[in-house]
Amino acid sequence: MRSARVWQRLLGVERTVVEQVEFDTETDTLVAHVRPRAGAWQRCGRCGRRGSWYDRGDGRRRWRTLDLGVVQAWLEGDAPRVDCPVHGPTVMGVPWARHGAGHTYVFDDQVAWLAVRTSKTAVEALMRIAWRTVGAIVARVAADAQVGVDRWASLRRIGIDEISYKRGHKYLTVVVDHDTGYLIWAGPGRDKKTLRRFFTALGTERCEQITHVSADGADWIADVVAERCPNAVRGADPFHVVAWATEALDQVRRDAWNAARGGKGRSTEESKALKKARWALWKKPEDLTEAQQAKLNWIARTHPRVHRAWALKEGLRMVFTLARQGVKSAAKHALHRWLSWARRCRIPAFVDLARRVGAHLDAIHVSIDHDLSNGLIESVNTKLRLLTRMAFGYADPHALIGLGMLALGGLCPPLPGRTTTALTR
Ligand SMILES: [Zn+2]
Repeated sequence: MRSARVWQRLLGVERTVVEQVEFDTETDTLVAHVRPRAGAWQRCGRCGRRGSWYDRGDGRRRWRTLDLGVVQAWLEGDAPRVDCPVHGPTVMGVPWARHGAGHTYVFDDQVAWLAVRTSKTAVEALMRIAWRTVGAIVARVAADAQVGVDRWASLRRIGIDEISYKRGHKYLTVVVDHDTGYLIWAGPGRDKKTLRRFFTALGTERCEQITHVSADGADWIADVVAERCPNAVRGADPFHVVAWATEALDQVRRDAWNAARGGKGRSTEESKALKKARWALWKKPEDLTEAQQAKLNWIARTHPRVHRAWALKEGLRMVFTLARQGVKSAAKHALHRWLSWARRCRIPAFVDLARRVGAHLDAIHVSIDHDLSNGLIESVNTKLRLLTRMAFGYADPHALIGLGMLALGGLCPPLPGRTTTALTR
């Protein structure tokens, strides 16, 4: 192998001529002088079309690439401008880096791979870059991975939800493919305008192919789905419906707790015990510890109203357990019995809940019939929430979205030089 070929392999560059390699003793870095091969020469950096020579641009420039052994390495080459028939004078594209990037493809890909799998400090230290730079790299790798790949062609069943970040000050709308389990889209905001952007990107024809959409009871989601997906049935996902019941139960427990404090804000033995009973009330009965079971028995004796609220919540959860077990008619029957029970229970929070469930009855039937459990979207949301914590230092929501798409959308590139594609789920 000629040494130029060896350098080409070592640096992980393609369609590139390595002209010369020097070691800069002053900065302790390796600099490889490169140029695109003839076929990759004079192409527009934005679209790849061949353009005519325009000017020298800003002269020579450098791109950071993967370290070689223990030293930092850079590629150096000309960055002239070409006159693109579409984009006009544009900096020439190079086969070793993304347009406008200060790092090479192999460097970008390794940073993206690490950002998905390891800690912030590990990425910073290993790659010797600031967290801000990681964010910029993640955003461009994710954007690039979605270009020219049609990932939405067979989209049929989707789940839509919102997730908060920046301590609940900001929101993302997220869309999950029920059939693959992948996060397929995320956008800043939680309103009709945001969701319309997704359906616009999806295109009219594919919107018509959507058969099922699951979401919580939010009107803004329901309205946009009705307007854009004419053939979709909308399901109210069981996770959110049970979450409504849990909220209602908590309201009843809090009222009892306030009453136990005699309205004077004083803690009593009784109010303390009620506060501690929170977990026993929330958990599934089959998961209760002995101590929690004892607490539940105590509530049954001392606070029958709270206990009735608990039983109502459990009754609603049972509907979806039956649905998951595939006994759909039993699930629907149980739902109707639950509704008439809740309507007459004389606990305001649950009378309200019965009204809410009644209003979404069709959508709940759909999710029972079609097994649209949003457990999937919830697990994506849980993972995304972990990423939002990690991505807290990013000013730009697109870095967070990029990280989500790489980690949960199956878009993370393999490590440079490896032939297998490692998905991250
Ligand atoms: Zn162009």
